[in-house]
Amino acid sequence: MSNRTLFALVSPLALLAAHTALGQAPAAPAAPAQPDFSAVQIKVHQVAGNFYYLEGQGGNVGVLVGDDGVLMIDDQFAPLTEKLVAAVKTISKKQIKMLVNTHVHGDHTGGNENIGKMGVEIIAHDNVRARLVKGVNGAPPSPAVGLPVVTFGDGIGLHFDGEDLEVGKLPPAHTDGDSYIKLTKADVIHVGDVFRTTGYPIVDGPNGGTVKGTLAALQKILDLAGPNTKILPGHGVVVTRDQIASFRDAVAEAQNRVSALIKQGMTLPQVVAANPTADLVPKFATTGDPPNAMATERFLTLFYNALKTEL
Ligand SMILES: [Zn+2]
Repeated sequence: MSNRTLFALVSPLALLAAHTALGQAPAAPAAPAQPDFSAVQIKVHQVAGNFYYLEGQGGNVGVLVGDDGVLMIDDQFAPLTEKLVAAVKTISKKQIKMLVNTHVHGDHTGGNENIGKMGVEIIAHDNVRARLVKGVNGAPPSPAVGLPVVTFGDGIGLHFDGEDLEVGKLPPAHTDGDSYIKLTKADVIHVGDVFRTTGYPIVDGPNGGTVKGTLAALQKILDLAGPNTKILPGHGVVVTRDQIASFRDAVAEAQNRVSALIKQGMTLPQVVAANPTADLVPKFATTGDPPNAMATERFLTLFYNALKTEL
């Protein structure tokens, strides 16, 4: 699962752009095996009170249910919409009314067109809409029906199903449209892909992500969370703020180490060969299979390229 998930997180095109930016011959994109969506089963997990998440293929889907209807957070891939909607129906018979996108990646927004056609109002940060309008990672532009109709800059409040939700912009970390969704009564925060329990932090520079922003975004999540707050990552399982702090510390350590190697004049292939963050893997991937060599190369490539522009 984690390998497939990692494939989904950063498209080969993004990596290609990263390689090309360094003036290297583009690496032959390792064609990700097209996931067999027909085999995907959706699992329903209750997080707290009337808030759940769905685990399938792609990003965790938040589901808030109640008298007003259903609010979804992210929607995985288009071929899974039917299964996701069926899973939602096992929790609530009410209509899906709103969908919030945590960020632009296709494993979180792939179902937007299908969900939009159901008459659901899509909400996201300004930059998510702007990137979907253009087409993400070389994909065609999103049809209008799949675009957010409500967008925000710093944040927006939603009041639905007896819950007060705070949707807020995070510093540019994984992408430049990362948002968190805080459910103030349930004491839950969905943090999208700024944090995951299944592998390395992914700094998608071509889509506006930065290492500095990753550290600032993780600090913001720590500031928002209390000791008992349940934090739902983009991929993986629910954690508390202690694990965010550990992850943040590991990102800071990786930043220090890779920056030092860049300052020594090391090239990307040399940094990849040195694998300077191998001992940090247990802090990054606390669930699922450990990242394989390809995932490590992908992480170091994105991290190195981002840091080169930030130093
Ligand atoms: Zn992502």
